[in-house]
Amino acid sequence: MADLLGAINQLRKRIDPLSLQFRLTVGITAVSVLGLGSLAAWTSWQMYQILVNSHKESIVYVAARLPRDVALYSEMLPLEVGLQKAIDNRSTPNLLIWVKRDGTVLAKSETLKADTHGITAQLITQSDLPSKPEVREISDHYLVLCSKPLNVRGRMVGQLYIAQDITKDETMLIDLVRSLSIVSILVISVITLAIALYVQRSLQPLWTMSQTVKAVSAKDLGQTRLQLTQAPSEVRELAQTFNMMLSRLSEAWEQQQQAWEQQRQFVGNVSHELRTPLTIVHGYLQSTLRRATNLTEPQREALEIAAAEASRTIRLLQDLLDLARAESGTMQFRLESLVLNDLVLEIIGMAQQFSSRTIALEAPSVPIMGRVDSNRLRQVLLNLIDNALKYSDPGQPVTVKLDQIGKDATIQVCDRGRGIPLQHQARVFERFYRVDEARARSTTDSSLGLSGSYGLGLAIVKTLVEGMSGSITVRSKGGEGSIFTITLPAY
Ligand code: ADP
Repeated sequence: MADLLGAINQLRKRIDPLSLQFRLTVGITAVSVLGLGSLAAWTSWQMYQILVNSHKESIVYVAARLPRDVALYSEMLPLEVGLQKAIDNRSTPNLLIWVKRDGTVLAKSETLKADTHGITAQLITQSDLPSKPEVREISDHYLVLCSKPLNVRGRMVGQLYIAQDITKDETMLIDLVRSLSIVSILVISVITLAIALYVQRSLQPLWTMSQTVKAVSAKDLGQTRLQLTQAPSEVRELAQTFNMMLSRLSEAWEQQQQAWEQQRQFVGNVSHELRTPLTIVHGYLQSTLRRATNLTEPQREALEIAAAEASRTIRLLQDLLDLARAESGTMQFRLESLVLNDLVLEIIGMAQQFSSRTIALEAPSVPIMGRVDSNRLRQVLLNLIDNALKYSDPGQPVTVKLDQIGKDATIQVCDRGRGIPLQHQARVFERFYRVDEARARSTTDSSLGLSGSYGLGLAIVKTLVEGMSGSITVRSKGGEGSIFTITLPAY
């Protein structure tokens, strides 16, 4: 029972009332039901009409002949005897005849006398019988009945009643109609099944097309081609159009890739070319500041600002270089199996050297092993901790949590700062994306001496984490803080 319910539930899930397959099957089935149903109904009606009409005709014939029979018999016999003889002559086991005058039965068929049908009493008391034959049901018997005055040689003898019992024929007809209905239902069921299979087969190429197109990724746009040799011509034409579209998309994708590659190279080259002279400028500024003794206070201040800006720009150029390298796949990752508890503790210690704020660690006592590049993970965590410090009030704690869930090691950086509104959460990992431009610009100070506030930090973090076969997500609520979760393979 449970199996059957399960199967019905699954079938219900598979049936999509909006699908072409469902609509075509229902449509064609409805037309066949209507066609076959009408045919069956029409055939039954026609058979019934033929049956009833033949009986009506025979009754009309008997009603027309009986007065002449009575006249013939009464030439030799008394009228009552002649009447009975004529009735006996015309009666059959199913044709019942009787004549009444002033409520008294003058003569009646033998079958009525013997009450073979068991309805004599009900029949004889009937007074409102029609003059034209019609079908009536009396005590489970179907009868064709009519009544007319009986005139013999111009003399009114009484009222003639004729009844033909058609119960047997009617029952046969009902049985026939029932069999016809069962056969029709069976035929309709078979037709429905056949139609459903046929429609499913006809739509198969469309389904194949949709599966192929679904599986196409940007990289294999050029190789994917729809081959539907067995499909109907309309679908083949559609497949051809798809193939043409795929080629155009592939060309556009390649052109875009080239443009991106050129852009990446350009950014990488420019960053590289600018970083060296800027590092020299920064070096000269630092040594001038250290060695010069005769600088006025405004001159020293100006040189300090120049040195700080040069340093910030060098870090920005380094970030750009890192991103360009990671995206072109030339960044090297030196993965090794390490105890993450020790590494995270060491990174927190480093961050703590630059900030007076409390950075707490929550980690289990058991060692969690991860396969990571320690320098890259350091860069990642320092960036996240720097953000947590930058975007939360000085009184609020920052916590780093280390844990292992199944085959994954997770590192969470949690703060109780301003949080990131939901609509920005998916985009904070994009390059140069900043939630609130005006507010972010005012929050330029990196506690840990990172480049900061160009909107590049999280983009680099994501690229580095993915480079170590991990992933990063953010969960945050405006005004309540953020949790950045890094998931890395544990060993
Ligand atoms: P930025 O150098 O501007 O901090 P990031 O890429 O590190 O660039 O961060 C992108 C943006 O995400 C930031 O401008 C900031 O608005 C938001 N953001 C990042 N970390 C946090 C955080 N811990 N709390 C609130 N907002 C954050």
